[in-house]
Amino acid sequence: SAITNHMPTAELQALDSAHHMHPFTAGNELAEKGARVITRAQGVTLTDSEGNSFLDAMAGLWCVNIGYGRDELAQVAARQMRELPFYNTFFQTTHVPAIALSAKLAELAPGDLNHVFFAGSGSEANDTNIRMVRTYWAMKGKPGKSIIISRKNAYHGSSVGSGSLGGMTYMHEQGGLPIPDIHHINQPHWWAEGGDLSPEEFGLARARELEEAIERLGEDRVAAFIAEPVQGAGGVVIAPQTYWPEIQRICDKYEILLIADEVICGFGRTGNWFGSQTMNIRPDIMTIAKGLSSGYAPIGGSIVSDEIADVIGSGEFNHGYTYSGHPVAAAVALENLRILEEEDIIGHVRNIAAPYLEKAWKGLADHPLVGEARSIGLMGTIALTPDKDSRAAFAGDAGAVGYICRERCFANNLIMRHVGDRMIISPPLVIRPEEIDTLVARATRALDETY
Ligand code: PLP
Repeated sequence: SAITNHMPTAELQALDSAHHMHPFTAGNELAEKGARVITRAQGVTLTDSEGNSFLDAMAGLWCVNIGYGRDELAQVAARQMRELPFYNTFFQTTHVPAIALSAKLAELAPGDLNHVFFAGSGSEANDTNIRMVRTYWAMKGKPGKSIIISRKNAYHGSSVGSGSLGGMTYMHEQGGLPIPDIHHINQPHWWAEGGDLSPEEFGLARARELEEAIERLGEDRVAAFIAEPVQGAGGVVIAPQTYWPEIQRICDKYEILLIADEVICGFGRTGNWFGSQTMNIRPDIMTIAKGLSSGYAPIGGSIVSDEIADVIGSGEFNHGYTYSGHPVAAAVALENLRILEEEDIIGHVRNIAAPYLEKAWKGLADHPLVGEARSIGLMGTIALTPDKDSRAAFAGDAGAVGYICRERCFANNLIMRHVGDRMIISPPLVIRPEEIDTLVARATRALDETY
């Protein structure tokens, strides 16, 4: 019989746990508790199979930037499926959605980032980047430049290549990551690792680790440095102000390509089109996904500079995905960009929502459990701590208190994620001030109940 929203939740959960393997989920826990079955969504609100509603302070997985329920995207997808559901962009063919989306992205992206290589996801796009930067240097007669420097606690995806770029040790413990020639330096996470240094001193010290690494490994062996403008999945780590200017200086000095992974920061999250603009850096490549289509269709890509496109385009790049530039996903992304632009949603983030959130969110620092409470654009983080002054961690398992807090959020109709003992948010960009009030009130109740 058909499996529908109308089946009893317990039956759906039993089928789910019997047949569906979930990403980043403990299967035994799932079998015991059953997954929450999400059935519908509108605006910033999700509904589950039992009729509960939740304010989705994570925008799905950092991606539903324009909010749920925008029928225009459904219409565009249906129209495109009828007209041309699929054709590839390999072997000297193209189609209008891929042409239009790449031209639009070239217009939106800063500087001379004028060329797009499409992928199906952020992970695939970062795999493209690994091969593209190494191929670029090889084609320029410097095949020795193959090392990519990344950061500990970075997240760049889950494929073998992108998972290797990432600095999540719990991922490296499984399946043989990282691949060779990926090197990780420390992250600019002042709250957790700053010790007695001021944030400014610490930011500089962490940026200079890039210079030390380049000198140790050899300038002629390093191809690129990759980083998220604001580390997202690592716990919304906002670098001290001294960090990014120094990173840019070092990349320029040693001719190291700078890859900004904009998968979360892109498309308005930090109050500009791209996090690189907020951080005032000039990347050679930007990784994009998520907010590119607001998650309505799977699509990602790499936006690259004129120089890289010229070199790579002077021969054949033996790389590509069946769904590179998928016409339905590209059409949906284009419609999403139209909405972001015409409704000035990024102006709403910059002028209304982000300042409003910042004020309300900072207030959480008065809570006895909360140390740092920060936000940038519409990304927020709070550090849970037993001792604000020493920035101490809780005794016992790291993340145990964060887990309880996340469960108390659910009980208070709020979806907030925990990374260890940090709580993080990244709501849809269309969130209104009164919805931010609701978010912060529910978060406060959840914190009160977390002991
Ligand atoms: N890069 C960053 C910064 C991300 O946050 C993510 C996903 O969370 C990825 C890459 C991987 O993207 P995807 O899950 O679409 O493969």
